[in-house]
Amino acid sequence: MRTPDHKYFWELDAENIRGRCILLDIDGTLVFASGSHLHPGVYDMVIKLREHNEIVLFSNGLNKERNLDVANKLGVLYVSSYWRKPIPFVMRAVPNPRKLPILVIGNLFLTDGLLAIFTRSYYIRVKRFISPNESIIWRLTLYWLDDQIVRLFYPRSFFLRRK
Ligand SMILES: [Mg+2]
Repeated sequence: MRTPDHKYFWELDAENIRGRCILLDIDGTLVFASGSHLHPGVYDMVIKLREHNEIVLFSNGLNKERNLDVANKLGVLYVSSYWRKPIPFVMRAVPNPRKLPILVIGNLFLTDGLLAIFTRSYYIRVKRFISPNESIIWRLTLYWLDDQIVRLFYPRSFFLRRK
């Protein structure tokens, strides 16, 4: 299926992402949905981004152990919340002592993108990293819907600018 996004997380232009507190999604962005196998490119990208940004991992997935495992592998902070994306209260869990502008990076507009809109943050929608074994029903519903919404409302934008 074609998506409006061209780049996986590890293909982003890290040079142009500076001075942000990055709220980074896990499933479909760094790992296959529900897996814990990181794409090899993820390590390098995280190291590059960490040079000029703060990185905080957050996942709507309930497997805390897996999430912590990913955070430990990458050497970045993981936070959890009673709330789920795109509920803006998620941001309460994000320590951002330097008050950097927040940038949400994730594969799903309906969670990551809307969270960014609701909290007036920046957003980068990345190409989703999915397993060929992933449920076809899941793909045909949620992902299809997500793509249609992006096509309708954000046909070309990669960044959603803060108002
Ligand atoms: Mg995701």
